[in-house]
Amino acid sequence: MAYVVERKPLSLSERLYIPQVLAGMKTTLKHFFAPNVTMEYPEQRPAIPPGYRGVPTLVKDPHGREKCVSCQLCEFVCPPKAIRITPGEIPADAANAHVEKGPKAFDIDMLRCIYCGLCQEVCPEEAIWLQNQYSMSGYTREEMVNNKERLYELGGTLPDQHFKWDKKKAAEQRGNAHH
Ligand code: SF4
Ligand code: SF4
Repeated sequence: MAYVVERKPLSLSERLYIPQVLAGMKTTLKHFFAPNVTMEYPEQRPAIPPGYRGVPTLVKDPHGREKCVSCQLCEFVCPPKAIRITPGEIPADAANAHVEKGPKAFDIDMLRCIYCGLCQEVCPEEAIWLQNQYSMSGYTREEMVNNKERLYELGGTLPDQHFKWDKKKAAEQRGNAHH
């Protein structure tokens, strides 16, 4: 059965609209003098908390050596297949010549990347890190592919807790005895 709702007649103050306009003006004025809660991006940038996972980058060790050994685990694990690696030989006179391989080419397609961090989790050399860079834009699809040079530019150098290669080299010099 239909239920008819009676429309209440407007009071005098509601018919005048002035009290409602004043109430609206009061709210506007209150916010006009209150401190800003918005940020003038991109001139102002938010503070990024430690451990934030932004754009994936490649990092070098404190000696300036490439840490990536081109094992391709990150390429294999990446869910949207955003990583493309072409392994290459390392020159005999390079600082990291004792490592078997290095990446000849290393591309990450930021139109595919979902910032999941699996590449960082799986990397045995701690060579790939999602750092605090979160703003990536471009006019073409090609611009959104970060090549090896760009990945190192974004990544820079991170502290190395383990110095795995140095330990391995020292062990080799001691007759390959691992202590
Ligand atoms: S963060 Fe995830 S999606 Fe992005 S490159 Fe790494 S594994 Fe792939
Ligand atoms: S970044 Fe790490 S996981 Fe990816 S190829 Fe290089 S060493 Fe392997």
